[in-house]
Amino acid sequence: MDVKSIREQFPILHQQVNGHPLVYLDSAATSQKPVQVIESLESYYRNHNSNVHRGVHTLGTRATDQYEGARDKVKTFINADSTQEVIFTRGTTTALNMVAYGYARQFLKEGDEIVLTEMEHHSNIIPWQQAAKYTGAILKYIPMEENGIISLDAVRSTITKNTKMVAITHVSNVLGVINPIKEIAEIAHNQGAIIVVDGAQSVPHMKVDMQELNCDFYAFSGHKMCGPTGIGVLYGKKDLLEKMEPVEFGGEMIDFVGLYDSTWKELPWKFEGGTPIIAGAIGLGAAIDFLQGIGLDNIIEHEQQLAHYTQKKLSEIQGLTIYGPEERSGLITFNVQGIHPHDTATVLDSEGIAVRAGHHCAQPLMKWLDVTATARASFYLYNDENDVDRLVEGLQKAKEYFGDVF
Ligand code: PLP
Repeated sequence: MDVKSIREQFPILHQQVNGHPLVYLDSAATSQKPVQVIESLESYYRNHNSNVHRGVHTLGTRATDQYEGARDKVKTFINADSTQEVIFTRGTTTALNMVAYGYARQFLKEGDEIVLTEMEHHSNIIPWQQAAKYTGAILKYIPMEENGIISLDAVRSTITKNTKMVAITHVSNVLGVINPIKEIAEIAHNQGAIIVVDGAQSVPHMKVDMQELNCDFYAFSGHKMCGPTGIGVLYGKKDLLEKMEPVEFGGEMIDFVGLYDSTWKELPWKFEGGTPIIAGAIGLGAAIDFLQGIGLDNIIEHEQQLAHYTQKKLSEIQGLTIYGPEERSGLITFNVQGIHPHDTATVLDSEGIAVRAGHHCAQPLMKWLDVTATARASFYLYNDENDVDRLVEGLQKAKEYFGDVF
């Protein structure tokens, strides 16, 4: 992978921050956008802006073609069966809430089990807590091993005949753990449960194939995969989406409206009430073209190499703890002994290096790790070893600044 030429395509990376060239290591929070995506948004607003599925006029037809064309790109990208299974949403959080409202609240009853893990992002915990309160269902957590991995034995012993839903992340945004979704889906299905997968940290980085994984629902966000903010996807198997209730009612999603009752459009539009996120979807389509041009296999390989390099370099720093297993996605979560992660991140920022510090929207996982917060460096296709070297130098500075107690 030619990282140098990839970086050229990200205008934002070529700036000084606090007097230093920017090193952006926060792509797990949101990725930067290549010029192709920025230009697709500009071109849409300059040349084609119009509402979709309505006008017979030329701009309306163009906007509709581009919006539905983006759905087609998503379908191919994740290998869904049809575009009817691709719902545009505001992001992962909205997509997961749609399933919790439209499916769980409708089909779960008292005593049914919803199985989660303690490594979930808040977006994949709270919707299920609320659905459980509403229906009387019970939440259960698959126990993790010491390094944060979950074993298939633990999965088998947690999912029972009473389990109706398994909600699990594909890749942890804190530990970098990659969960064996295909195998977990099989175990869930053997017990008659459905599986909902949080793909926020997987789809941007690795090839994800709905036919192969056999998930029932799969959610992801455009802004973490070079696309714009405010657009995401809920994939769902057609028969489940047919059964599921819409959660937003109004224009666009209806077939016939009477004074006292109405009927819905067919899939996928019954879930897209109101004027949809037209520009966002078109920008996501451009992001997919860009990522496919580079190749998802190349991206994950590059990021994992960087993560290994970082792991090696950081393990040479005395008093630094890395959380999570050796085999990980392209992110490293750590703490420097005696320095609060917010202080670490502040010193790094003064050196032009952007990392995330805090609980990473995973408070139950912080509790499990027995910390209140951590720092996290997360990589994407535009990062290289020079970025890691700058991180290491920055961390040495943080230690000096806080009086290196070691
Ligand atoms: N799930 C995981 C694992 C995440 O990392 C994130 C974002 O940080 C989300 C869900 C929520 O994504 P969004 O804020 O785009 O809805």
